[in-house]
Amino acid sequence: MTSIAENLKSVGTLINQAALDAHRRPVDITLLAVSKTRTADELRELYLHGQKHFGENYLQESLDKMFALDDLAITWHFIGPIQSNKTRSIAENFDWVHSVDRLKVAQRLSEQRPQSLPSLNICLQINISGEESKSGCLPTEAEALLNQIDTLPNLNVRGLMAIPAATDDTLAQQAALAAMQAMYIKLQKQYPKFDTLSMGMSGDMQIAIREGATMVRIGTALFGPRHYTKTKNSN
Ligand SMILES: *Cc1c(COP(=O)(O)O)cnc(C)c1O
Repeated sequence: MTSIAENLKSVGTLINQAALDAHRRPVDITLLAVSKTRTADELRELYLHGQKHFGENYLQESLDKMFALDDLAITWHFIGPIQSNKTRSIAENFDWVHSVDRLKVAQRLSEQRPQSLPSLNICLQINISGEESKSGCLPTEAEALLNQIDTLPNLNVRGLMAIPAATDDTLAQQAALAAMQAMYIKLQKQYPKFDTLSMGMSGDMQIAIREGATMVRIGTALFGPRHYTKTKNSN
């Protein structure tokens, strides 16, 4: 087996074990392979070993890969910061967007979603750690924003996404993930169709699953460390 295939297997085992430890069903957790900076061949290999969901951060890079992998039935997720002049291409090419954090972007995605495609699945990104430089709406803004976004015709609001502040402090990490779960459960009463809590990366996937994540976004644990200098990361 190749190392990517082995990694996929061991990440699958970790997810299953974390789910069972949390008295959850492993099938209720979706693995999103975060493939920024990875080559189309690496994605193809993972796909051939059963991985269907891929997450990308940089628009031009992802369009190149979509073109190269046109023969595969990949579900594409956009997870990077969104500039409003990039919404058309995102609306035309992706199945999911996890990083919606303001009304203007949601409106543009809805307007620009081609009628020939199903509604665009979206998550509202929450800046759960209140970091000034980070994307995501503030927790206090989420409900009002969702009320507006939910009226847009070509979007299917699936839930919430967060990238908690990187920290070695396990308690702080857990607190942020738990706060996300509490917010998700509260909003789910208003939006029973919510089925997605997108959180957990290579370093915190087990805690995230314990705190209710339904989709974990994993890059490094699948592909190894990223080498940014070798790739062009222009949007
Ligand atoms: C890069 C990235 C990930 C994956 O992070 P790893 O630590 O490599 O697993 C997850 N989510 C987002 C939004 C990312 O940009």
